[in-house]
Amino acid sequence: MRGMTIIKNVNMLGVKLSNITLTDGANTVIDAEGRIAFPSFFDMHIHLENALSLRETGENDSGTLNEAVERWAKIRDSLSVEELKNRIKKALILEIFNGVTHVRNHADTCSKNINSVKASLEVKEEMKDFVDIQVVAFPEQGIFNCNEDEFKRAVEISDIIGGKPDGEDNEDLGKKHLELISSLSLKLNKSIDSHIDQGDEPTRFSEYLLGLRNGHIALSHLTSIHSDNDEYVSRLIRLIKKRNASVISSPLTTVFLNGRFDKYPKRRGLTRIKQLLSEGVNVALGHDDFQNPFFPFGFGDIIQALWLAVLMEQANLKDAEVWIDLITRNAEIEWTLSTSFKPSEDIVILDAKSLREQLSTLSPRFMVIRKGKIIAYSNRSGEVFLNDSKINPYDLIA
Ligand SMILES: [Zn+2]
Repeated sequence: MRGMTIIKNVNMLGVKLSNITLTDGANTVIDAEGRIAFPSFFDMHIHLENALSLRETGENDSGTLNEAVERWAKIRDSLSVEELKNRIKKALILEIFNGVTHVRNHADTCSKNINSVKASLEVKEEMKDFVDIQVVAFPEQGIFNCNEDEFKRAVEISDIIGGKPDGEDNEDLGKKHLELISSLSLKLNKSIDSHIDQGDEPTRFSEYLLGLRNGHIALSHLTSIHSDNDEYVSRLIRLIKKRNASVISSPLTTVFLNGRFDKYPKRRGLTRIKQLLSEGVNVALGHDDFQNPFFPFGFGDIIQALWLAVLMEQANLKDAEVWIDLITRNAEIEWTLSTSFKPSEDIVILDAKSLREQLSTLSPRFMVIRKGKIIAYSNRSGEVFLNDSKINPYDLIA
């Protein structure tokens, strides 16, 4: 058909073969051969500005969060807004390639002149045809260890108020930190997404935040409940539900950073995703970091985060098929609860005929379609030569 791209045999949500027609001026027919498609992915927790910074920061020798923060902070303040923007854009290109067209970016309010926040907001506008971005004003080293006025200014221009009570010097300051972000939330009518209870030792910061008057809350990480006692966790989960708060987990980074002070048996620092879901809490996932001192691997593929969550939580195959919601439906619920700006309805076609196949091969995505245009494409191929025959290895697992 003239002026159109037709993508045939797309298996939407794994339930129905259909065609996708794009009026994009091309005259092309592409056969998706039954590949499975979903609404495009959300990465609900990422630090774009320091992705791909490992070469400059050097390796995190201790593997701890503190060393990661120190290493990044040294580089951060030497970068101009323009340099930060370039870094953010590079990371976004990888996210888009991997089927993510909605990103919640935590921009560091401790950066010199809040340059990280300014850079994120400018990129949000410049890249809006390719990706939706929520900018969180995130105090990486705490509010009171940095500049409180600058933090407040960052909060005013950002979409969401961030937090990190563990970044303060003691528990009292951590509580004051939560009181401040709660009062800003009420004053500015903005929601909160706080890094919270991010270590292995139980703290009570989540409980404290949930007990304050504020707007909608998302709890990022919440790793310490991995190690806390069941009675307390069950009480906390009741409180999370009562406040209709979301939990955002970043398996790749937490599995790398947590448990660093343990011998064996070692706590692995993932929040209780399976339990939270079974008790009706909205859980979404983030990639958090890639190729930086917080997590030295990865390339912006949120499917890797889902894969690790499935493994660490020992989800069975049936659960795993439903857990795609953690990067689609559940993430969208959190997105719309936290801001009034609606995410664009885009499509990702996986290079797999089932979610099980996708989680087995971790293949890059076949196609990403945004606002009626193909914005990313890849096509896995491979051959194994055995005597006189050539075998496509992917045919063996489909
Ligand atoms: Zn984070």
